[in-house]
Amino acid sequence: MDRVDLHIHTTASDGTMCPRDVVSMAAMLGLKAIAVTDHDTMAGIAEAGEAGELLGVSIIPGIELSTDFQNTDVHVLGYFLSPDAPQLKEYTHWVTEQRRERNGKIIEKLRAKGFAISLEELEQQYPGTVLGRPHIAQKLMELGAVDSVKEAFRRYLGQGRSCFVPRKRISLEDAAKLIQACGGVAVLAHPLQYGFDRATLDKLVKTAADCGFKGIEIFYSGYTDSDQSKLFDLAEKYSLLPTGGSDFHGENKPGIQIGSGDGKLNIPAYVLIMLARSQFQ
Ligand code: AMP
Ligand code: ZN
Ligand code: FE
Ligand code: FE
Repeated sequence: MDRVDLHIHTTASDGTMCPRDVVSMAAMLGLKAIAVTDHDTMAGIAEAGEAGELLGVSIIPGIELSTDFQNTDVHVLGYFLSPDAPQLKEYTHWVTEQRRERNGKIIEKLRAKGFAISLEELEQQYPGTVLGRPHIAQKLMELGAVDSVKEAFRRYLGQGRSCFVPRKRISLEDAAKLIQACGGVAVLAHPLQYGFDRATLDKLVKTAADCGFKGIEIFYSGYTDSDQSKLFDLAEKYSLLPTGGSDFHGENKPGIQIGSGDGKLNIPAYVLIMLARSQFQ
C-alpha cells in the first residue's frame, strides 16, 4: 500500500532537517508523497519540490498556521496553496513582525535571568528561518541552561512559565479564508492536543466544518486506536475527510520519524487523493 505523510517541518521553521534531506529520507522510506507544512512559511517548498522531482516523491505544498479558537492556540494545516499568492505574502509579513517582536521580549526576559542570548545572534545562526521558541530552547541547551528542548519549555518558555510571551494569532475562521484565498484547503491539525473536553472538541470541529475546512487530522503520532476512532466519529458527523501526518521536527521532537511517528503510523495514500479531489468539489 502506498503511504504518505502530510505533516512535516523543516529548517524553514522549527524542524532540524533541511527540505532536501527530509525528501531524501521520505524517498528511502518508500513514501509516495509528503506535505511540507512549516509554521507560517512556505519557504521550504521550492527546495523540497526540486528534490522530490529527482527522487520520485510528490511534494504537496503546505503550511501550518497558529490560530485562535476560544483563546487556545489551535493549529490549522493548509494544503495545495500557491506560495506566490499575495494574501500569503501579506500574512507571512505580518506574522514575521509579530514573531520578531515576541522573540525580542522573550529574550529580554531570559537576559534578565542572566542568560547570554541575543536576537541578532539567533537571526544570524538561523538565516531565512521562521524563528520561534524551539530555536530559543535550542540556544538554552547550547548554553547548558537546560538538557532538552522539553525542559526549556517546562522551565521557561511554555505557557504560564516565567519567560512566556503570548503572540497575536488570526482567528480559525480567518485562517480558513486565507487558505482558501490562496487556492488551498484547510485541515484541522492534531485535534486532541488542545486539552478540550468532549463538548468543546465537538464545537471546534463543527466550527471548522462550518467555515469550510475539508479535513481533520486523525492519523497523528501518539494517537491510539481509540483516539482515532473518536476522531473518525467526529469526521463522519461533520463530513470531514480523514488526513494524517507525523509532525516530524527532526531533533526538536525526538522519537518521531517521517511517515511512521512512533512506529504505528501508516497513512494510506487515499487520504491525500480524497483531499486533492475535495478541491474540485
Ligand atoms: P512558537 O511557534 O514559537 O510559539 O513555538 C511553538 C512550537 O514549539 C510548537 O510547534 C512545538 O513544535 C514547540 N513546542 C511547544 N511546546 C513544547 C513543549 N512543551 N516541548 C517541546 N516543544 C514544544
Ligand atoms: Zn513546530
Ligand atoms: Fe502543530
Ligand atoms: Fe506541526
